[in-house]
Amino acid sequence: MGRGREKIEFDVLFVGGGPANLAGAIHLMQLATSKGIHLEVAMIEKGAEIGCHALSGAVLNPIALAELMPDYREKGCPIEVDVRGEELRFLTETSQYRVPFVPRYMKNRGFHIISLSRFVRWLAEIAEGLGVNIFPGFAGKEVRYASDRKTVIGIRTGDKGLGKDGRPRANFEPGIDILAKVTVLGEGAGGSLLREVSGALNIFSGKMPQTFETGIKEVIELPEGNYFLSSRGNVIHTFGYPLGLNTHGGGFIYQMKDNRVSVGFVVGLSYRDPMLDLYEEFMRFKRHPFAQRIISGGRVLEHGARTLTSSGYYSIPKLSVDGAVFVGTGASMLNAPALKGIHTSMKSGMLAAETMIEAFQKGDFTQDTLNCYQELIESTWLKEELYRGRNFAQTVSKEGLIKFFHLGAQYLTGGRGIIDKMPIAKDSDTLKSLRPEASPRKKVKAVYDDVLFVDKLTGVYLSKTQHREDQPSHLVIHDPKLCVEQCFRTYRCPCTRFCPGNVYELEIDENTDEKRLKVNPANCLHCKTCEIKDPYGNITWTCPEGGDGPKYTIV
Ligand SMILES: Cc1cc2nc3c(=O)[nH]c(=O)nc-3n(C[C@H](O)[C@H](O)[C@H](O)COP(=O)(O)OP(=O)(O)OC[C@H]3O[C@@H](n4cnc5c(N)ncnc54)[C@H](O)[C@@H]3O)c2cc1C
Repeated sequence: MGRGREKIEFDVLFVGGGPANLAGAIHLMQLATSKGIHLEVAMIEKGAEIGCHALSGAVLNPIALAELMPDYREKGCPIEVDVRGEELRFLTETSQYRVPFVPRYMKNRGFHIISLSRFVRWLAEIAEGLGVNIFPGFAGKEVRYASDRKTVIGIRTGDKGLGKDGRPRANFEPGIDILAKVTVLGEGAGGSLLREVSGALNIFSGKMPQTFETGIKEVIELPEGNYFLSSRGNVIHTFGYPLGLNTHGGGFIYQMKDNRVSVGFVVGLSYRDPMLDLYEEFMRFKRHPFAQRIISGGRVLEHGARTLTSSGYYSIPKLSVDGAVFVGTGASMLNAPALKGIHTSMKSGMLAAETMIEAFQKGDFTQDTLNCYQELIESTWLKEELYRGRNFAQTVSKEGLIKFFHLGAQYLTGGRGIIDKMPIAKDSDTLKSLRPEASPRKKVKAVYDDVLFVDKLTGVYLSKTQHREDQPSHLVIHDPKLCVEQCFRTYRCPCTRFCPGNVYELEIDENTDEKRLKVNPANCLHCKTCEIKDPYGNITWTCPEGGDGPKYTIV
């Protein structure tokens, strides 16, 4: 391969530049400074810059931020607007009703509306100011273990400059081994390194399966004098149409500054109908008269998609192994009833930092010491918050009105409900097989106008997604034949509908009826829905070359 592989050593390596790791890195440096400990700390991020792959709602509960930096406003935290109040609306196909009662976990008093992309850029500046070495454009591709095969000693970043055939091109740069006494995995939902650790060290053993939701989101610029100038609330959540009550999910509309709004639609990946098209549901939501009242006349500025881990407390893995800890939503740190994971992820990073300081003081980086992180979680508001939602994802994944009865019981009993530790199926196991004559749900009839209603490909364009074309596909289809034979027969290739980026296309030869699944990895928004929802486990999402993918700035 020509040039040799470089090795760099740090005390701590954070993999992923999301809120969990950034809060963790900042807190680590604060604690190290106060205790006079010198630490060499690094962070890698697969996006071209910090924030490029950050997508969220985003209503921020500032509890963790205020603990990290009480003077966050003075330090220039990029708050769009403060929350004035919230509305919960039930939508039918043509009407809407304001729900008079908003559950307490959906209350947002004292919270802020932010752009996650801008927020993490700001956190990164603070972390760098404290001495954290941040390397954007580097994807962690492989976990490195000591010779005992159970101690994590760092990661290997992905090679750059490989051709589609896997052979090095002229500009080839081999990945680097970044070694550390402690490696912190904060890759967000569906982390590919966490999956690897899970396979090697069984960290999810005995836990409930992680389940997910996929959100498609846009920032829309509105004409002057928008809805929110006279509305009581500036955080709106909807349920009902277009999914109905058997499929979990709904819409959100949050006010931003400068006449912009954040508009999104989230679908629980426990859905059963293989013909459901996530993008079409988002379009249906945007076309609803209630959403139209707010966004009509607007223009989509930025577009993207991402999954979040919704399964919560009972799916939290073992949080440390020798040489590594796991933070953020990849480790199920999300309050699903509230659709909030930024503050919980930040807090998990901060508690991991406290544990690491103790580990450096003792000079012991084995699980014996790192396990203290789990204990810290159990004694803080983080546990309390996650524990209250411990049966939520299981309940909303069910069909029928009975789920509202369960939700009511959980509401009154601090999350316990009627059955505590309700079981849940993996999202990949919930699709129902199709009758042979099945056809797609009726398409949204209005045409795209390229302004307020953009098609999937324009959406990809508005996410500024780019991947170098001549590289091995980062979406690994293990058995392409299975897609066009068994999967087509049973589910009509649902990947062509659950992927919001038009990555998967089914091509059928008109003359021979021969089928082919065309994969366009260059369109990938890094949401990871395909690996999670594929009913045969036939798709594996791996990191493409560092720096590729979306280039979000305001979502
Ligand atoms: C549509 C939607 C709406 C939401 N709304 C809200 C809301 O209103 N309020 C709220 O609090 N939460 C909300 N959430 C949840 C919240 O965004 C997440 O819980 C939070 O961002 C998780 O933080 P994290 O640091 O764990 O992961 P992430 O924010 O996902 O960050 C992980 C980072 O790691 C990088 N990365 C991943 N793998 C690698 C690798 N192998 N090598 C290098 N880098 C890597 C990624 O590119 C990314 O930048 C929402 C989520 C979605 C999808």
